[in-house]
Amino acid sequence: MLGAIAGDMIGSVYEFENRRCKDFPLFTEATTFTDDTILSVAVADVLLHGGDYAKAFKKYYWRYPNPTGSYGARFHQWAAAPTVAPYNSWGNGSAMRVSPVGFSGTSLESVLTEAEKTAEVTHNHPEGIKGAQATAAAIFLARQGRGKDEIRVFVTERFGYDLQRTVDEIRPVYSFNESCQGTVPEALIAFLDATDFEDAIRNAVSLGGDSDTLTCITGGIAEAFYGGIPDHIRQPVLERLDAPLREIVEKFRDRYL
Ligand SMILES: [Mg+2]
Repeated sequence: MLGAIAGDMIGSVYEFENRRCKDFPLFTEATTFTDDTILSVAVADVLLHGGDYAKAFKKYYWRYPNPTGSYGARFHQWAAAPTVAPYNSWGNGSAMRVSPVGFSGTSLESVLTEAEKTAEVTHNHPEGIKGAQATAAAIFLARQGRGKDEIRVFVTERFGYDLQRTVDEIRPVYSFNESCQGTVPEALIAFLDATDFEDAIRNAVSLGGDSDTLTCITGGIAEAFYGGIPDHIRQPVLERLDAPLREIVEKFRDRYL
């Protein structure tokens, strides 16, 4: 899941200042974790210790109420409210937080079921569930050593995303998009078009849009496919986590990776 966190951090400085190219510094003074990391760690916490996703998301929200980039407006409302009813979201938040499910699952079916559980407490719209399932399934298949063509075919057939485009085709026509259906396919293509982990991250940032979330989704899948993340990225990422987040990330790695 550190690949997803790396994507969130590296994308964090480009969310509101898009870079439409692949040549940019990976880390700057401003590079930091955002809501994508916080809620991914909440999912990992539930997978490690049990519990309820809705309660965990609220717990982490109150622990980190105002991160860089902040949460979606409706998530804010939901998290701060005493009730837990889902709000039918199709936002990309369900996909950005799901990577630990892909890394911990033992079968494709169990990954799809668990991804739905992480999504449905807020993102119970079919596109919200689909975005979480497609992301987690791609991570699971990559972990199993499946090739990019196999991943592309599975996700296309199961979820109906158009994965025939290239990063160079998408870049000139892409704009800020907070939906699953307008983020997850592009994040997958950033991975499918890449030559290694860093190239996947650079592809994702170069698309613009909701950079931290798009790059977070790409980063989780690329980590699974390339079997980890390079040291020159892993170290600066670990240094930028606070102690409680790092503790869960390291415990998750020791248990599942
Ligand atoms: Mg964010």
